[in-house]
Amino acid sequence: MLLKIRQAGDPVLRGSARALTPDEIRSSAIEELIERMRATMSDAPGVGLAAPQIGEPIRLVVIEDRPDTLEGISAEDLKARERSAIPFHALFNPVLRIEDPTIAEFFEGCLSVHGFVALVPRAIGVRVDALDHHANPMTIHARGWYARILQHETDHLEGTLCIDRMEPRSFTTSDNHARYWRSKPIDEVADTLGLRTAAVRKRG
Ligand code: ZN
Repeated sequence: MLLKIRQAGDPVLRGSARALTPDEIRSSAIEELIERMRATMSDAPGVGLAAPQIGEPIRLVVIEDRPDTLEGISAEDLKARERSAIPFHALFNPVLRIEDPTIAEFFEGCLSVHGFVALVPRAIGVRVDALDHHANPMTIHARGWYARILQHETDHLEGTLCIDRMEPRSFTTSDNHARYWRSKPIDEVADTLGLRTAAVRKRG
């Protein structure tokens, strides 16, 4: 049932994915794929999964930020990240535009770069136009963590990984992130590492 998540270095993660037609979106094959991606994302666990990550070069992403995941995160961290629960949904052929270019910088990981995280600067507000699982047009206006997830997942459809956008000096194993960096304010992390975007970083 679970799908294998491709890891960095797999060529499928570096290609441009193809758009799906409305008939394809409404097909039983895609319906089944969405369910398998949902189960795979939940098991990982992750808050987003793009089809190229499971070896399918098509413009499909699934997203879910579950309430039970958020229970393990402090109220302070949730507030700083503007993070709250997002119900499960699938997006086809998404087109993302930046609505608020203010930069927020936080540690971010990817299921295809397993075991590592890094600081990734992202715009704080985006608009996404896409088709839903019935192939109906939909528009999302997102801020904060949801905007980050949307940027991360739509990047996957163009063969871009978060490590292409990260602060290279902040790259760390997840274990060392937990050991040395997680409890520190981002500004202190940035100062310690001497990061380049310090001047434009949103405090958080
Ligand atoms: Zn990813």
